[in-house]
Amino acid sequence: MLRSATEYHLLTMFLDRRLETLDPEALRKHQWARLAAMMEAVIPTNRFITSHWKRVGLERAQDLRGWDDFRRLPLIRKSELVEDQAVHPPFGTNLSYPIERYVRVHQTSGTTGTPLRWLDTQESWEWWARCWTYVLRAAGLGPGDRVFFPFSFGLFVGFWAGFEGARALGALAIPGGGQDSAQRLAAMEALGATAVCCTPSYALHLAEVARERGLALERRGVRTTVHAGEPGAGIPAVRARIEEAWGARAYDHAGMTEMGAYGFECAAQAGLHVNEAEFIAEVIDPATGQPAEEGELVLSNLGRAGSPLLRYRTGDRVRVARTPCVCGRTFLRLEGGILGRVDDMLIVRGVNVFPSALEGIVRRFPAVDEFLIEVYRRGQLDEVRLLLEVQGHAGPVVAAVQEAVRVDLGIRVEAVPVPGQSLPRYELKARRLVRRAGDPQ
Ligand SMILES: [Zn+2]
Repeated sequence: MLRSATEYHLLTMFLDRRLETLDPEALRKHQWARLAAMMEAVIPTNRFITSHWKRVGLERAQDLRGWDDFRRLPLIRKSELVEDQAVHPPFGTNLSYPIERYVRVHQTSGTTGTPLRWLDTQESWEWWARCWTYVLRAAGLGPGDRVFFPFSFGLFVGFWAGFEGARALGALAIPGGGQDSAQRLAAMEALGATAVCCTPSYALHLAEVARERGLALERRGVRTTVHAGEPGAGIPAVRARIEEAWGARAYDHAGMTEMGAYGFECAAQAGLHVNEAEFIAEVIDPATGQPAEEGELVLSNLGRAGSPLLRYRTGDRVRVARTPCVCGRTFLRLEGGILGRVDDMLIVRGVNVFPSALEGIVRRFPAVDEFLIEVYRRGQLDEVRLLLEVQGHAGPVVAAVQEAVRVDLGIRVEAVPVPGQSLPRYELKARRLVRRAGDPQ
């Protein structure tokens, strides 16, 4: 019998630590055992998965005999899931159990088109929480921490699962829904929050609100921030800015509504580890589908038998790190975290540029509060214009940003100042890239 949250924490930490440091062969065996167990639940009842697999001649769970068979399974795209839900509303056919077995529903934030709905069972909801304990523990959190979630607890799954994860970890989970930014800052102070989980954009926004009110955020007891929803915390200049404003260490995390909470940073902060105890990760060339060192991340989850996703094209561009991490984890590491969306890559005067690279430069300038990337199409080329909200005298800052982009990325972009507070602020996923028709005004 476990007597306390601390004891439970120590036990799970010990068990998970074993998984995190397995040698590659043992890790593949572990994944295979999980996959085989899940297959028994999925086939033959899950119509979505079975119809996909029939196309490659796989009809029974036993037909999946080894990794070569696995790699022949068709890749699944988000558009197929959206289409399936449109044809079979509201939840589609990727369901392995009768509908009564599901206890949670969420949907994607809808930043890239139609929202996708997703159901979870008791078991898979517990699995979400467990995946988040990897994230929080790697950020150094445990029982005794008070984790604040400045998040409107709506249909978007993001921090619901993080909240459950904090509870599962034995920490105090503090909901920050139904409040504006000032009330959230006050709640954090009153309840003694030691950690905060939110998007990187929202962490910067809270810092801005604190500054306007003359509050010294860096002296408020928050020592750790964990960020999801955007790649921001993995961009050095963004991380530095959050850490300075909060007087805390900022950790990156990656997850998706339809997939789960799969990526986290360890104390070494050398890119994202993929939780390979709960996910199978592949990196492919998006054009050919062949394995690649840099390309699109393809994931399969191993703990969501009621609504699984196998060989799912995440649309995230990543680069595989081949050197071992100093933390001792053997889980796959993605250098620089999520580099960007595969379909967000810009071609500016013949140079491939991810919006995250531009963000990495803009965020180095403390005088820039917020920014927006406008993209105009000219023939086959993208033209970029940066809109910058600058504190004080804008001219020299705007010129310095332009020069930094030229030096670092080898491209010339136009940068223009815009009035303070004229650009959107975000609590959920920020959308700082806007494609416009015609020429800049
Ligand atoms: Zn590590």
